[in-house]
Amino acid sequence: MKILVADDDRTTRVLLTRTLVAWGYEVTSVDNGLDALEAVRGGQFRVVLSDWEMPGLHGPELCVRVREMSGPYVYLMLLTSHGTSSHVVEGLEAGADDYIAKPFDPPVLRARLTVARRHLALQDELASKNNELARANSELARIATTDPLLDIGNRRSFEDAIAHAHGNARRSGMGYGVVLADIDHFKRFNDRHGHTFGDHVLKCVAHALVDALGTAGQLFRYGGEELIAVAPEQNAGSLAALGERLRAAVEQMHLELPTGTLSSISVSVGTALFDPTEAISCQVVIDFADASLYQAKKLGRNRVVCWPFDDARPPHTSQF
Ligand SMILES: [Mg+2]
Repeated sequence: MKILVADDDRTTRVLLTRTLVAWGYEVTSVDNGLDALEAVRGGQFRVVLSDWEMPGLHGPELCVRVREMSGPYVYLMLLTSHGTSSHVVEGLEAGADDYIAKPFDPPVLRARLTVARRHLALQDELASKNNELARANSELARIATTDPLLDIGNRRSFEDAIAHAHGNARRSGMGYGVVLADIDHFKRFNDRHGHTFGDHVLKCVAHALVDALGTAGQLFRYGGEELIAVAPEQNAGSLAALGERLRAAVEQMHLELPTGTLSSISVSVGTALFDPTEAISCQVVIDFADASLYQAKKLGRNRVVCWPFDDARPPHTSQF
């Protein structure tokens, strides 16, 4: 373990260094508080033995500055001839962990350093447990927002994403789009080739859609065989083009059936654009996309319908 000795008195520095080195510690010494602070900033010292009175920063000031730093815990020991109780209190309140009277008594100093090592071991254990906990928490957060089959965002993270896009659009005045895609005749794949193959089809379609979407937006599993994308900063033209790009990407897939033959596959797509000048909620935007998707199915599937389409009526589920 590396110990930093800070003392403006040369004799004390030499004596301390010699003693500590004899006990197996690696020692660096400085003769003022500012150099001590710089050395601690370097991150290699976990124990500091500091004098009270010294140029630059005095001992308690050094303690305060070290406690303001982030990073691994540094054990601070004040070594001084100021032995009154008010000095002890001031030193400890400034952030010192321990207080040793000068001239130091070697057996006491040695025992106190053992305490320092024990303290640092506990601090390190705590820090590593906290890291593990933080990692576990972020993994839990990922699991809670990810669809396990498709490895894309689930319904919950879609709801967060659209609320976020809605808020951004209101602030920036730039609309966003929702693209809802549903695999045509998906039930046939499940019924004829089993659910494992159905899962495979879903994964292939999700993959194709993520690729086609690129950086234009984010894809989520909305439910069953429905996938939904939120695309920020869209206008009617760009959103229609995006919907068409997603539809075409699925049509161009080469889906091999378990029998070895290639099957055609398609999606029906409904899109809706949020115009920030309109006072509607994001749920209404979703309802519009849903109504457009329904229309695409009705018109024969494998097509894109953008809200508002001819004969479109406000979805009955929405509040206006
Ligand atoms: Mg001094």
